[in-house]
Amino acid sequence: KVKKEGGGNIVSLSKANHVALSRKAMIEKRLIEALHHKDLSVMYQPQVDLKSGKIDAVEALVRWEDAVLGTVSPSDLIPIAEETGMIHDIGTFMLEKACEQAATWAKQGKPMKVSVNSSIREFRDKNMVKKIRQVLEKFDCPAHLLQIEITEKFALEAESEQSIIRQMLQLQTDGVTFVLDDFGTGYASFRYMQLLPITELKIDQSFISSITKQEKLQKLVEGIIQFGKSMEIRVLAEGVETKEQQDLLTKLGCDAIQGYYVSHPVPASEIEKL
Ligand code: C2E
Ligand code: MG
Ligand code: MG
Ligand code: MG
Repeated sequence: KVKKEGGGNIVSLSKANHVALSRKAMIEKRLIEALHHKDLSVMYQPQVDLKSGKIDAVEALVRWEDAVLGTVSPSDLIPIAEETGMIHDIGTFMLEKACEQAATWAKQGKPMKVSVNSSIREFRDKNMVKKIRQVLEKFDCPAHLLQIEITEKFALEAESEQSIIRQMLQLQTDGVTFVLDDFGTGYASFRYMQLLPITELKIDQSFISSITKQEKLQKLVEGIIQFGKSMEIRVLAEGVETKEQQDLLTKLGCDAIQGYYVSHPVPASEIEKL
């Protein structure tokens, strides 16, 4: 195969690899610094309940603007952080920011759930529950205002890891809620629905983007919404960008939406205005 394609391809491939590798190494190196100086920031994206029409939760999303690398997107940052173990520090940073913000809003008489994304590696830390409880206490944040988003991959792996299920159940007892993110893109193993304390699922944006144009997608989403209803799980649609999508999702009985149509991820002060 190599011979047929000729040498040119091989050279350009390895060049591309080299560039990718050195960017990865740079991200690793700069991220250590950024975490040390708490140079990351958080943006919040509102979630709107379709019945009340009100924002009842926000998702906290990590943002990193590095002096050398420029903007590093979460899709570049998170996999590297997971691989190197720096995800623990990012997780702690996000958790602290989210709980501090949730407590601030609660004290202003405008309580709002704050949702943070979590990697399974964080839950393999035996002190995860203790850490979360300490952060809640530190900021005087009611546990029911903290929501944790896990992916289907996380859920699938957690099925066979008793200690992770136990930690999730402990947190559930405190009042922390769990959301299944990017629903439909992963493994669709329904066993974890029964094992894990999940109160909401977020239909992945890839299903929503063409929903008004494709009948099949509409049927699929309708099925997911019905599934949620029969399981008594709230269903949120991600990546809603147009009024047409919102109207259709309302008609299909979806509980909540999140997406650019409502708002891009914004600083906390902008959420207060919204
Ligand atoms: P996610 O949790 O599914 O978050 C939703 C992503 O979709 C966000 O991208 C958000 O900016 C984007 N989005 C929201 N509305 C729309 C829309 O209407 N259209 C389109 N095209 N996109 C929309 P972002 O912030 O780049 O994050 C990407 C992923 O990185 C997240 O997906 C999440 O899996 C991960 N991530 C972000 N922050 C964290 C974090 O603090 N910890 C961990 N472990 N993962 C994070
Ligand atoms: Mg999420
Ligand atoms: Mg998602
Ligand atoms: Mg996603």
